[in-house]
Amino acid sequence: MAGTAVRGRLTWQTATVATVTDETLAVRTLVLAIPDWGGHRAGQHLDIRLTGDDGYQAERSYSIASAPGEPVAITVERLEDGEVSPYLTQDVLAGDEIEVRGPIGGYFVWDGAAADSVPLLLAAGGSGVVPLRAILRHRCRVGSSVPVRLLYSARSQAEVIYRSELSAPADDVQVIYTLTRQQPAGWTGYARRVDQQMMAEVAWPASGASGASGPLAYVCGPTNFVEAVAADLVALGYPPQRVKTERFGATGTP
Ligand SMILES: Cc1cc2nc3c(=O)[nH]c(=O)nc-3n(C[C@H](O)[C@H](O)[C@H](O)COP(=O)(O)OP(=O)(O)OC[C@H]3O[C@@H](n4cnc5c(N)ncnc54)[C@H](O)[C@@H]3O)c2cc1C
Repeated sequence: MAGTAVRGRLTWQTATVATVTDETLAVRTLVLAIPDWGGHRAGQHLDIRLTGDDGYQAERSYSIASAPGEPVAITVERLEDGEVSPYLTQDVLAGDEIEVRGPIGGYFVWDGAAADSVPLLLAAGGSGVVPLRAILRHRCRVGSSVPVRLLYSARSQAEVIYRSELSAPADDVQVIYTLTRQQPAGWTGYARRVDQQMMAEVAWPASGASGASGPLAYVCGPTNFVEAVAADLVALGYPPQRVKTERFGATGTP
């Protein structure tokens, strides 16, 4: 049985784009209808493969934006000079078919099980918010009451993904923004790149964090963001094994 499950996850199959929703000027969410989908966990990703008319293929990974039990969704940020993301954010229409395989990954996941019932610190740089949104939605669906703080770094308010969803967080979920390049008039929140001082103000205290009862951190975004935030957390006393990281690659500095 295990062999069947592994084959299923790693086998390419054809998905149909069910809906396309603009999140920001450069970011789109695609809901995918995938015929042979064995379910996923919050924080996992999938792979997309595009094949050109000349047979050239390009593969990229995308975090799953939806909670377990919800239709599979991905949220893609367009990189103007990228190969795959411009197609997924500009050209794809509902009804189009794309190849996918997954779900993939078992480390950057949050299941909401009893062992996970410690405060969560989520830190997102730009589109790094995608798997963290799946975790937040899963927390709601399983009725978890673990307290959560999401620190979300975006260049401007217009570039905040899931803005309306995040503006009405569930009880015990705090969303804290830092807008690094442009702030709306009257902005009183953070307006700089994440640094150790900001993490010290936002993160749950690390005291007692050495065991399984300390807070858990999930950090996701461009590689440089993830490495800086993880280093700040470790400097604040978080044991490295309590800081889970997902790097999207060198895709800019939110
Ligand atoms: C586990 C995982 C999950 C991810 N989840 C998401 C997600 O939820 N949403 C999301 O938007 N992205 C996500 N990503 C990133 C995604 O996989 C792609 O990397 C992203 O969409 C860019 O792909 P692209 O083909 O458009 O750009 P690419 O063509 O891959 O280019 C990316 C950047 O690298 C530069 N570049 C390309 N080739 C070279 C080269 N030879 N030398 C120097 N620079 C070069 C380009 O100029 C561009 O700025 C994830 C990545 C990983 C690993």
